[in-house]
Amino acid sequence: MTESKKYITAIEHTIFEYISKAASNLQLETYVIGGFVRDFFLKRGTPKDIDIVAIGSGIDLANEVAKLLPNKPKVQVFKTYGTAMLRFDDIEVEFVGARKESYNEDSRNPVVEDGTLEDDQNRRDFTINALALSLNKTDFGALLDPFNGMQDLVDKIIRTPLNPDITYSDDPLRMMRAIRFATQLGFTIEKDSLDAISRNAERIDIITRERIVDELNKIMLSEVPSVGFILLDDTNLLERFLPELTNLKGVEEVEGQKHKDNFYHTFEVVDNISKNTKDLWLRWAALLHDIGKAPTKKFHKTLGWTFHGHEFVGSKMVYKLFKRLRLPMNNKMKFVQKMVLLSSRPIVLATEVTDSAVRRLIFDAGDDVESLMTLCEADITTKNPNRFKKYHKNFEIVRNKIKEVEERDHVRNFQPPISGELIMETFNLTPCREIGQIKDAIKEAILEGEIPNEYEAAYEFMLKRAKKLGLKV
Ligand code: ATP
Repeated sequence: MTESKKYITAIEHTIFEYISKAASNLQLETYVIGGFVRDFFLKRGTPKDIDIVAIGSGIDLANEVAKLLPNKPKVQVFKTYGTAMLRFDDIEVEFVGARKESYNEDSRNPVVEDGTLEDDQNRRDFTINALALSLNKTDFGALLDPFNGMQDLVDKIIRTPLNPDITYSDDPLRMMRAIRFATQLGFTIEKDSLDAISRNAERIDIITRERIVDELNKIMLSEVPSVGFILLDDTNLLERFLPELTNLKGVEEVEGQKHKDNFYHTFEVVDNISKNTKDLWLRWAALLHDIGKAPTKKFHKTLGWTFHGHEFVGSKMVYKLFKRLRLPMNNKMKFVQKMVLLSSRPIVLATEVTDSAVRRLIFDAGDDVESLMTLCEADITTKNPNRFKKYHKNFEIVRNKIKEVEERDHVRNFQPPISGELIMETFNLTPCREIGQIKDAIKEAILEGEIPNEYEAAYEFMLKRAKKLGLKV
């Protein structure tokens, strides 16, 4: 057998000394495998987790490592999976016994048996994720790479170790993982593999929504998320869990008038916003900001293509979509809804920036007004350089105006300067419709800039308004 190359620098961390010592105590062949090894060769920075595979019991090995470690960490055992985990230096170290997996047609769960390192590498999803480094005394640091994953790392290729049709059909989540790694790492999915994803796309339906969303979120948080979304679409996966997006596809032409392709436009917006924010939910808002356009699209003889009320319809769709995909139904969902609902407001403003329109925008968006501006700037995808410049300049004016109006009028998180109680006391009223009318009128007057957002002015205004309604002090 030829001596394989050793990579001692990959396993310089002290944890590997302890694992190696424990393995030797128990006489267990042991390797570090998967993402840790891949990321070392890709120079992807400090690892957050390390996967250890033992030819024998991973749980026994974890317990022995914990015994040797000075801080004696707690070992978390997952009996059903035969795995164990401990934490050291903020790193999660996962231990598993090498296994052989065989799937049959009717069950999602494989039959699992003890296996060799090679069996374990065979069950890995991609060649670049099957790389292992020995932690055994005899060949510490030796690379075990049966599928030439190193070459795929150099060539930036995602490839399954075995027949891709079998790999993907056995565990369809791997299709999402292939696309996620391609997006995160800037790799290309090998042609056979890509074709196999298209052929097996409908198998994704057996995967839980939570696991799909986990991968989607990782795609969304990549530098250029559109890479992943376009691959998801090309392989027919996207329509299976985000039909609201694929419904935006295409350009229609009636009487020589076309509308833009809102599907590809959406991905441009997501890429744009990703340059300016790492906020996952603002990125989701960018992805969903136009979903109301499919159900509201109409052609009018005089107006051309319209998407009347698409923001409102879109924000309602956000609720259903979040629920279906088991995304959080809390303030994150409400934030995305709000962004979709308000997504056209600053654009309208950009043509004429009035104080009252800016005040209303701040009033409606509250603390999210900055996020909304970020979304709307990302929404500028015109290819006409003059228009591009003009829109951005207008948004700069809007941003400045927001600052100016904010400082002067304090309408963010607006609290009316006159309370309902004060109105009741002043006019000796019991609860009635007029109180609401007066309060609304005061709010409107402030937003319109007729009066400043101050007690004295609002009090004067209340007196006048009440007089008109025939109320007496
Ligand atoms: P990341 O930490 O970026 O998600 P990773 O490769 O470490 O990357 P994990 O999900 O932690 O991803 O998986 C660890 C290793 O387990 C992988 O490198 C791979 O070898 C294997 N693996 C994970 N999921 C699968 C799967 N669905 N099918 C086959 N092998 C898998």
